[in-house]
Amino acid sequence: MKKIISNILMSVDCTNNDAVEYALNNSKIDKSIITSAKVVKRSVDARRGDINLVYAVEIEYLPVEKEKNEFTFGTKKLKGDIVIVGAGPAGLFCAYTLTKNGYKCVLAERGQSVYERVKSVDSFYKSGNLNINSNVQFGEGGAGTFSDGKLTTRVGDARSKIVLETFVENGAKEDILYAQKPHIGTDMLKDIVANMRKEIIKNGGVVLFDTTVSDVVIKNNQVYSVITNRGEIPAEKVILAIGHSARDTYSMLYKKGIAMEAKAFAMGYRIEHKREFIDYSQYGKYAGHKNLGSADYRLTYNGKDRSCFSFCMCPGGYVVAAASENGGITVNGMSENSRNGENSNSAIVAQITPNDYEGVLGGIELQRKYESLAYGATNSFVAPIQNTEDFINGKVSKKLNGVVPSYPLGYEFADLGKLMPAEAVKTLREGLKSFDRKIKNFTTCSVLTGVETRTSAPLRILRNELMESINVCGLMPIGEGAGYAGGIMSAAIDGIKAAERIMSVYDRN
Ligand SMILES: Cc1cc2nc3c(=O)[nH]c(=O)nc-3n(C[C@H](O)[C@H](O)[C@H](O)COP(=O)(O)OP(=O)(O)OC[C@H]3O[C@@H](n4cnc5c(N)ncnc54)[C@H](O)[C@@H]3O)c2cc1C
Repeated sequence: MKKIISNILMSVDCTNNDAVEYALNNSKIDKSIITSAKVVKRSVDARRGDINLVYAVEIEYLPVEKEKNEFTFGTKKLKGDIVIVGAGPAGLFCAYTLTKNGYKCVLAERGQSVYERVKSVDSFYKSGNLNINSNVQFGEGGAGTFSDGKLTTRVGDARSKIVLETFVENGAKEDILYAQKPHIGTDMLKDIVANMRKEIIKNGGVVLFDTTVSDVVIKNNQVYSVITNRGEIPAEKVILAIGHSARDTYSMLYKKGIAMEAKAFAMGYRIEHKREFIDYSQYGKYAGHKNLGSADYRLTYNGKDRSCFSFCMCPGGYVVAAASENGGITVNGMSENSRNGENSNSAIVAQITPNDYEGVLGGIELQRKYESLAYGATNSFVAPIQNTEDFINGKVSKKLNGVVPSYPLGYEFADLGKLMPAEAVKTLREGLKSFDRKIKNFTTCSVLTGVETRTSAPLRILRNELMESINVCGLMPIGEGAGYAGGIMSAAIDGIKAAERIMSVYDRN
């Protein structure tokens, strides 16, 4: 049996053990039948001008409830393979769940295995030579590998627990099981992703790297096979977990008539402050306390025409060069587990809706246009930057204001206002001014790096309640690229759901 004692308010100096002891003393459960007690949530309460820690402690006691079987299994025989396209969180968790439950599958990933991919990214950062199939967007682990590894989600799905536990089984620290805002960090994510792949292979899965799916063969409205650079793979189910940057794959699917629709996304810049500045703005005199870590923030502004908001905050993190095409710059952010870099960064983006572009693939063209303008500003992967205050005033900066941009391929001053649609620039300027009222000196102590364009998929691949394409049987679009997830956690959950869907109908193959 389990009982959770929540809302345990403790001083900022207390430890997890103090919280557990408090819960044991106040649980009203006979201590002789208690088998274990652990922290399952820890958050920071900074509301009343004072900083406290708020804990929830789970106490397990006899008699212990029997474990329930999590999944149901079908009896239908699979005639062909299950092919999963893309080894990001959606594809990885789908393959992991299937193989763990006795189902075979082939996981085809266009990029390299994670450690080879790290070498390609390092080489890009040093030489400016981009590997268009293995980079910050593409390769084992998907877009989230070079990230902060934030695992927050607002989807409220019970599968979140499975995702967190799977990460822990594969090497993540246990604190993600109880932190209010769990994060893993790029340094740990790489090993976790490699461990998950080893487990998939151990359980009978086939993992193919450097394998790009360039076509999906459809016969009588049912998927038949996928064509890759290594040949054809017959398939009865094709799970498309391609992420939001597979522009060639989107075009191929569109040309084949797979039903899709245009979707809203957001574009803007990465803002960087000194980490200490953000910590102080959020925690005051407690900034730097060992129990608090680096601080984050979340800011929103609702303009007349569109909204502007902070996104994907990376406390103590770095700005990354997230391009997957030559001739275009796009940025993003990542942090190590310790989050102790010099700066803290976040995307500051304005909403872009299908009214801002034409056609289903128009969002991609819009992203590409501004990525190529950013590249053109320096004629290289060197990023255009501007002090935030100068951006608001439309002035090209002449010198840094104290914050050194962390973008890895170097930077040059530019007029960032020219590198985004005018309507978005207007809202971004208004939004930044309003953020300055929420966090004092937010705009005077920061620098912007351009441009952030790949916040989410600019289109959706339409699917029915069976998670299959509405016009092709056996084709299952999942995760961020299909438009059904927005982040590591929700993409992973979508992957598990797709596996459950297959397992509930088919027998183990
Ligand atoms: C730098 C960065 C930092 C981020 N930080 C966070 C964060 O801290 N927290 C968070 O929740 N989210 C973060 N995100 C977003 C998060 O990474 C994505 O939401 C998530 O990875 C989406 O998962 P996915 O599996 O749907 O797609 P992806 O992770 O994009 O994976 C898709 C995979 O499919 C492969 N692929 C594409 N086309 C083909 C093809 N034709 N054939 C074979 N393979 C193909 C790609 O190579 C890729 O590996 C970040 C993203 C980036 C880029």
